[in-house]
Amino acid sequence: MKHAPYVLALDAGTSSSRALLFDAHGQAVATAQSEFTQYFPREGWVEHDPEEIWTTQLQALMSVMDGVNPHDVAAVGITNQRETTVVWERATGRPVYPAIVWQDKRTAGDCAEMDRHHSQLFRQRTGLLLDPYFSGTKLAWILRQHPDHHARAQSGELLFGTIDTWLIWKLTGGAVHATDASNASRTLMFDIHRGQWDTELLGILGIPLAMLPEVCDSSAIIGHTLPEYTGRSIPIAGVAGDQQAALFGQLCTAPGMVKNTYGTGCFCMMNTGTEAHTSTHRLLTTVAWRMQGITTYALEGGVFVAGALIQWLRDQMGLIQTAPEIEELALSVADNGGITFIPALSGLGAPYWRPDATGAIMGITRGTQAGHIARAALEAIALSSAALIEAMQVDSHMKIPLLKVDGGASRNNLLMQLQADMLDTPVARPTQTETTAMGAAFLAGLATGVWGSTEDLQKLKRDDHIFYPRAAELSGRAQIRRQWDQNMRRIL
Ligand code: ADP
Repeated sequence: MKHAPYVLALDAGTSSSRALLFDAHGQAVATAQSEFTQYFPREGWVEHDPEEIWTTQLQALMSVMDGVNPHDVAAVGITNQRETTVVWERATGRPVYPAIVWQDKRTAGDCAEMDRHHSQLFRQRTGLLLDPYFSGTKLAWILRQHPDHHARAQSGELLFGTIDTWLIWKLTGGAVHATDASNASRTLMFDIHRGQWDTELLGILGIPLAMLPEVCDSSAIIGHTLPEYTGRSIPIAGVAGDQQAALFGQLCTAPGMVKNTYGTGCFCMMNTGTEAHTSTHRLLTTVAWRMQGITTYALEGGVFVAGALIQWLRDQMGLIQTAPEIEELALSVADNGGITFIPALSGLGAPYWRPDATGAIMGITRGTQAGHIARAALEAIALSSAALIEAMQVDSHMKIPLLKVDGGASRNNLLMQLQADMLDTPVARPTQTETTAMGAAFLAGLATGVWGSTEDLQKLKRDDHIFYPRAAELSGRAQIRRQWDQNMRRIL
C-alpha cells in the first residue's frame, strides 16, 4: 500500500543515476535506475558527460513519478558522487568540458607541487589532503584549458558545481546555483571551520570566487523544481554527498556514531558532533551536514581493498564462483589455521599508510586448506576496518557504541560477526539497504515537515540485524589479533 506524503530521493552515483520514492514510514515504494557512460580518455583519466548525467537522472525521476500524484510528493532530496567537477556557461547551461570524476588522477602533479608549499594550510582550513581526488585542482585544470575561461569565470559567465549543484541548476531551470556544506567540504576551497569559501585558498588554486555556488544547509528549501519535470513545482529540500547521506540515512546523528560501507573498498565515517577533530592518522576531517546553520563534523577514512579481496579470490584465484560463496567456504573450517592475509593489493591506507606495500598470505603449511584462506580473507576485511575505526576513536577521543553497516559485502553474516568480535562492539545491519538515498530523503523530509525531528526518524520501524561480540570467542579473537599485528609488523 502506498501512502502519501512521499519524498523523492535522487541518488546521482558514479555509474548510474537512481531515483527512489520514500513514504513517511521511510520505506522505498518505487525505484528506478539508469546507467551512464564512463569515459577513460587517457591512463588515469575518468570523465562523465554532464548532459548524460542529467538526462539519465531525469529519466529515473520520471519513471518513479509515473502514476504518482505530484501533490503527494512533499520534497526532493539529492545525494551524489562527491568531488566530481563540472563547469558550464551561465547563459546557455552548456558544460565547457566533460565532468572530471573523483577517481581521475590527472592533477596528481599539481597536488604534489602545491603540497610542497601549502600542505598545512589546506589541511587546517579544509580538513583534506592535497590529493587529485578533490575538486579544487580539477577545476583549476579545466580553467587552464582555454585562454578565456579564467576571465569568463571571473565575470560570472562560467559556473562551477559538483554534481548536486549541476542537478539543482538543471531541476530549477537555471534559477538556483547552490550546493550544501557537505559537498562544499570536498572541494579544497571551503573553510570548514568558518563555513565559507576561502579566498586565500582560491588565490593559490587560481579560481575566481564569482563562479562558486552559494553554500546552503543540507536540510533546507534551496529551490523548486520546474513543473515540467515533476508535475508541479516541488521544493528541493535536502542535499548531501553520498557518504554523508549514508551516515544520516543510518541515523548516525549523535557524536561517536560510525557507519562503515563494505563495497569494493570500505568507506567509514564517524559523526564527531560540532567539533572538527584533526586526525593524527591522516584521516579526513569533513562536514557531515549543516542544519539550521549548525555544522556537524565527521572523520572519514577508507580501506582500499575489502570486497575487492573477495573478487580477487574469485576472479584471479578461482577459489569461488560467486562472492557470497566465500562465507560457506570460510565456515568449512573452524578457524584460520594460522593463516594471515595481508590485504595490501593496492597498498595500505589508514592507519598504516604504506601505499607501496604489497599483499601477502602468511603461515601456509601442508595442512592449509582453501577454507583457511577464505576465512583469513574475511578476517582481513574485519581487521582492517577495526584498525581504521580504532584510529578514529583515538582521534576523536570517543568510543563508538555501535557500528552501523551497509554495502554489498555487509550481507556476509560471518564477516559481520567477525567485525563485531574484532572491534568488540555490536554491529547493526539494516534490512533497508538504501541508506544513501534514505539519508537524502530524511534531510529533505525534515525541512518540509514530513518528519518533525531526528527523534521522529529514530522511531521509524527498522529491522536491524544486530551482531553482538561473542564472549566465548574472547581468547580466539585475541589470538587472531596478535597474529595479525605480528605479521603486519613484518610487512610495514
Ligand atoms: P561497490 O558499490 O563498491 O561496487 P557493492 O556495495 O555493490 O560495492 O559490493 C560489492 C562488493 O562486495 C564486491 O567487491 C564483492 O566482491 C563483495 N561482496 C558481495 N557479496 C559478498 C559476500 N556475501 N561476501 C563477501 N563479499 C561480498
